[in-house]
Amino acid sequence: MIVIGLGAMGSAVAYHLAAKGTRVLGLDRYHPPHQFGSSHGLTRIIREAYFEHPSYVPLVQRAYQLWADLEKLSGRKLLRQTGGLMIGPPDGVLVSGARRSAEEHRLLHQVLSSTELRARYPIFSPEANMVAVWEPRAGILFPELAVQTHLEQAVKRGASLRFNEPVLRWEPEGEGVRVFTATGTYSARRLLLSAGAWLGALLGASADLPLSAERQVLLWFEPRSQAEQFQPENCPIYIWEYAPHRFFYGFPDLGDGVKVAVHHEGQLTEPEKIPREVNEDEIQTMRSLLRRFLPPADGVLKSTVVCIYTNTPDEHFILDYHPAHPQVLVASPCSGHGFKFSSVIGELAAILLANQKPSFDLSLFRINRFARSRAADSGPQPFQG
Ligand SMILES: Cc1cc2nc3c(=O)[nH]c(=O)nc-3n(C[C@H](O)[C@H](O)[C@H](O)COP(=O)(O)OP(=O)(O)OC[C@H]3O[C@@H](n4cnc5c(N)ncnc54)[C@H](O)[C@@H]3O)c2cc1C
Repeated sequence: MIVIGLGAMGSAVAYHLAAKGTRVLGLDRYHPPHQFGSSHGLTRIIREAYFEHPSYVPLVQRAYQLWADLEKLSGRKLLRQTGGLMIGPPDGVLVSGARRSAEEHRLLHQVLSSTELRARYPIFSPEANMVAVWEPRAGILFPELAVQTHLEQAVKRGASLRFNEPVLRWEPEGEGVRVFTATGTYSARRLLLSAGAWLGALLGASADLPLSAERQVLLWFEPRSQAEQFQPENCPIYIWEYAPHRFFYGFPDLGDGVKVAVHHEGQLTEPEKIPREVNEDEIQTMRSLLRRFLPPADGVLKSTVVCIYTNTPDEHFILDYHPAHPQVLVASPCSGHGFKFSSVIGELAAILLANQKPSFDLSLFRINRFARSRAADSGPQPFQG
């Protein structure tokens, strides 16, 4: 089998395929972990009371198990539990969605009033009408280390990985596939496309998917006061719905400063043309959010990074066979919330590539949902089911 793209998803799939004893060739245009795609910037949130949809909860629970297995296998710390806060108006999508998932799946959680939140975490300044859903299992994944670990474990189990070898195109060859790079041509029975922000280019005209690549800015600030309250023992990860459907999120200070970012609201781009410089407006936008909600974090700017989301219109993932070529599986566009799932997507994709039936409901991630919504000419459709 061939895996194109060895970032978060591809590295995990390569590992799970190799662990099943499958012969696997992985190809990447760069040498992951790298800074050009979607899986860099030191930290990613993992959380269980999933506001996007309760269907994600069983998946993230399996992802937690697989991250723990990978930690055991590699002897590396890949996940740090800090607890998590989803903060916003009680009827906003974030708080109401997190509560719905927590209640449906009977997850341990607490709802804190604005006053309780301030008392427990004095660095936060919620508005009087805001509440927080606190969940204990949320925490931080280390994306570069996780990708590197999946790749190393894949190689240990016999995967052959070729870096700095961009795939130029692929084509069906009977019931299999043929893949063309600048330096070689490879044939296989099955193909996984996990090229992240480059997926649309690799699919070309073979599947007309409404994907968009969105520039995202990450910023690290030195706390200007209460530095000890930003330490991971005292500060959970958090997502904040600061206006209807508008979010920023952040992490405790792990030694590099307090990392904060706006979720979405970035400019649409192409991965090869993305502006890498962070401009003054973007810094000031973040500072004004910090002054409003997290004043002690508004200190010296320490560093910035630019990264890419690959979005679907409904912000759910795609994990499905190519609509015209069942020997090709697509696993990538994760709309800015996929990293935590990469361990379980690795396992599921390996099952799907072996034509077996996974034990999870993946209907949320079907590839043909866009064809249906376009036919109905009604734009992005919310998930029904
Ligand atoms: C700023 C930011 C913050 C995020 N925060 C979170 C979070 O807190 N929690 C969370 O769960 N998720 C988060 N996400 C989402 C998550 O990081 C992504 O969903 C995930 O990393 C995407 O992985 P991927 O494998 O699809 O893409 P990538 O990791 O980018 O991998 C794609 C790979 O394909 C390779 N490739 C592309 N084209 C070719 C080609 N032609 N030939 C060969 N190789 C090719 C690339 O070089 C790359 O290595 C965030 C994303 C960003 C950008």
